[in-house]
Amino acid sequence: MAARSVVVVGAGIVGMAAASFLLRDGNAVTVIDEREPGDGCSYGNAGAISPDMVVPMSTPGMLAKIPGWLMDPLGPLAIRPGYLPTALPWLMRWVAAGRMPRVEASSAALRRLHKPVFDVYRELLGAQFHDHVRTGGQLYVWRSDEVGRNERIADALRAAAGVRAEKVGIDELRQMEPALAPAYRRGLWLPDNGHTANPKRLVAALAELFQRAGGQIQRARVRQIEVVDGKARAVRTAEGMIPADLVVVAAGAWSGRLVRPLGVRVPLEAERGYHVMLPDPGIDIRNKLSNRSSSFSVTVMEGGVRLAGTVEIAGLDAPPMEERALVLLRQAQEMFPGIRTEGYRTWMGFRPGTPDSVPVVGPAPGVRDLYLDFGHGHTGLTGAPMSGRLLADLVAGRTPAIDPSSYSATRFGTSRE
Ligand SMILES: Cc1cc2nc3c(=O)[nH]c(=O)nc-3n(C[C@H](O)[C@H](O)[C@H](O)COP(=O)(O)OP(=O)(O)OC[C@H]3O[C@@H](n4cnc5c(N)ncnc54)[C@H](O)[C@@H]3O)c2cc1C
Repeated sequence: MAARSVVVVGAGIVGMAAASFLLRDGNAVTVIDEREPGDGCSYGNAGAISPDMVVPMSTPGMLAKIPGWLMDPLGPLAIRPGYLPTALPWLMRWVAAGRMPRVEASSAALRRLHKPVFDVYRELLGAQFHDHVRTGGQLYVWRSDEVGRNERIADALRAAAGVRAEKVGIDELRQMEPALAPAYRRGLWLPDNGHTANPKRLVAALAELFQRAGGQIQRARVRQIEVVDGKARAVRTAEGMIPADLVVVAAGAWSGRLVRPLGVRVPLEAERGYHVMLPDPGIDIRNKLSNRSSSFSVTVMEGGVRLAGTVEIAGLDAPPMEERALVLLRQAQEMFPGIRTEGYRTWMGFRPGTPDSVPVVGPAPGVRDLYLDFGHGHTGLTGAPMSGRLLADLVAGRTPAIDPSSYSATRFGTSRE
């Protein structure tokens, strides 16, 4: 196929992975972002790279929990009451995606996307792989001995996916993480997972490799995607039009706003998450940790320890709620007695969330030469490489390595209005 001019909107981990594969296919690729590469949601995540992440966010029993999420603004999942009418259609789809047969289908789709992540990062990063990616496993920890319903579902999904997961008893846990408070009683070791110690630097490295290989990155805000006779032809920025044979929307949580005026409706909600960086925590944390009792991650990063997590449904425009980040700080003090919090910094980012936790990757319904690559929710750092490969395969007309139907926008009954 002849080389085409491709514009990718968004220089997060998802856009840079897609742009890199499109460039390798001989296309002339320009990435447009109003910020520096990796300064969106990809900047502040927990750094987990998790081939074994096979559990969608919505599981059975979500409907009954919604009133509690509305009443507790500081809970691990909170919905701002004023935003409820806007979020309601998405929430209802989210609840429906939590029924068991759909959970199993979403889990299988996540596994196909996530499992090859280290191989695909190796391909993208080449000799720099070990500068950015650590493959040393992840440790989940719990305070309680009691195994709840969601945990049993997660165990079953991991078993069905063939994930290696080893139970860790209290004595072994003490040895693995001596700084952990005695209240923590058990763990789960996932030896095949990994992490990055600096997600922003990882995106910046992809951007640099992309430019070195001939790709262009432009700093501009895309106001509109130009469609003529049912075909994407250009993007409009404040500086003018940038023509393209093909446009890819990889604008993270903002993607819905870009495609909606074209009549392409995909259920996408901003799942706002927070982090706190502790520059000098003064304790020894030995593994990439996930606190399953309080739903947040602890990652030793370049520049300190990062506490990251929580979900707040409040849209793209409401200001951050600092108090939610401070909850993470208090939980870390409970988890690690003696942890130093001086000089902490907080951050909020917008996870691009679909109801079933599976991203949308592939052609936009009803608009020729418009492709979608967004909705990676809680696992974009993990799902981005294989999504980029899948997208490039679809653009090139090759048979993809994984069945694209699970990632199609049409699975939501999405169509042009
Ligand atoms: C607290 C937290 C913890 C997380 N932890 C993990 C984790 O441990 N592991 C994991 O795999 N994932 C994690 N995630 C999820 C992950 O960070 C996201 O899924 C991922 O960053 C999404 O990448 P993206 O490229 O789609 O979006 P983004 O990184 O947000 O990139 C989108 C880009 O599009 C640009 N853009 C938007 N609109 C326009 C426009 N009109 N014109 C020009 N540019 C535009 C933005 O500026 C932005 O740079 C976490 C997220 C949060 C919030």
